[in-house]
Amino acid sequence: MLLTDDAPIREQRPYHLAQWAEQAERSVLRQMIDVVSRPDILSFAGGLPALELFPQEAYAEAMARVLHDDARALQYGPPYKPLKEQIVALMAQRGVSCTLQQVFITTGAQQALDVLTRLLLNPDGEVLLEEVVYTGMQQALAPHGPRILPVSTDLQEGMDVDVVERWLTTGARPAFIYAIPEAHNPLGVSLSAERRERLVGLAQRYGLPIIEDDPYGFLSDGETPPPLRALNEEWVFYVGSFSKILAPALRLGWIVAPEALAPQLTVAKEACDLESSALTQRAVAAFLQAGHLPGHLSRLREAYGRRRRAMLASLAQHFPAEARWTEPTGGMFVWVALPPGVDTVALLERTIAEEEVAFIPGHAFAIPGCQANHCLRLNFSNATVAQIEDGIARLGRVIGEWLIRD
Ligand code: PMP
Repeated sequence: MLLTDDAPIREQRPYHLAQWAEQAERSVLRQMIDVVSRPDILSFAGGLPALELFPQEAYAEAMARVLHDDARALQYGPPYKPLKEQIVALMAQRGVSCTLQQVFITTGAQQALDVLTRLLLNPDGEVLLEEVVYTGMQQALAPHGPRILPVSTDLQEGMDVDVVERWLTTGARPAFIYAIPEAHNPLGVSLSAERRERLVGLAQRYGLPIIEDDPYGFLSDGETPPPLRALNEEWVFYVGSFSKILAPALRLGWIVAPEALAPQLTVAKEACDLESSALTQRAVAAFLQAGHLPGHLSRLREAYGRRRRAMLASLAQHFPAEARWTEPTGGMFVWVALPPGVDTVALLERTIAEEEVAFIPGHAFAIPGCQANHCLRLNFSNATVAQIEDGIARLGRVIGEWLIRD
């Protein structure tokens, strides 16, 4: 059994937890990642950046300099202004113009999602969410118990904006729409330019905030449509992260939101952790100031692009004709849909037992009431081209046999 049944543990618990916590289970994703991170397993399961590509030396230098030069790096302190200035410049590279006062530093994008949810959502509120979506957003929502209005996603063009419009024209007034327009996690799809325009138009018309989650935006190849925030500064609250462009362990991210929200954002964040690490903020600002990011980003794009193309070519070569998958232009994931009826949790047991290769079953990303049992997510950022070619061939063999046998 890959997924442990923790019901007996729950029965023994002497505590009365809040209602949402009584129902919460450890994320299916985490449970699976524990199982599939055995060293003998070739894993496409996690969502990790490549360890060997971290700019370890340059960051170590920046950190040493900061620690040596200024004891305020170890003190409580307000958000570090030079970092905000660097973020304004970074946003300009994504085609977004914003001011220092609109930038709000967070402890990772995950905290940004948590803080924005607390800011916008009432206990009896509603939220518009894709049927298959980043589990961290689902976790941020869980304590608030909102009614979720599901939206389907097209694997070529992204979120189905017709469905969004139908919800709104039939009277739904969600607290916000959550969107990952660039290289979606877990689907790998990017929202088309036309759908971006329409989605933002709906937000404007109905006075509805969009939380735009963009951790992968700097990693895409070639020309990409502008982020939603470039189209509208009033209704789009942009969330950025240093996790994928620098390193997740920094736990540093940001929000670009209307300046008028700054006091409430500050209160919500202070409840979480008072402030983000002064040391990390200064070290990242020093790293950026030294001009390391552009070269690092092109190395990442080049390496991840090679891995992504290898995965897509291997899928075409080794997966059965009935399988469909997304063709991302960036990010870290490819989403595969097998014929309906294939249970990818059972398939995972078989690929581990027979070929020692792992992925995440689609089920892990489906919102309550929706299902993606015949789908799976593959990560390409954390395996070499040789491992990708070998692993996808092995997965393809097991899937091919499954389709013949079952
Ligand atoms: N949003 C998405 C879509 C993600 O994939 C992730 C990380 N996997 C996050 C937010 C959280 O990022 P951070 O490490 O900055 O908290």
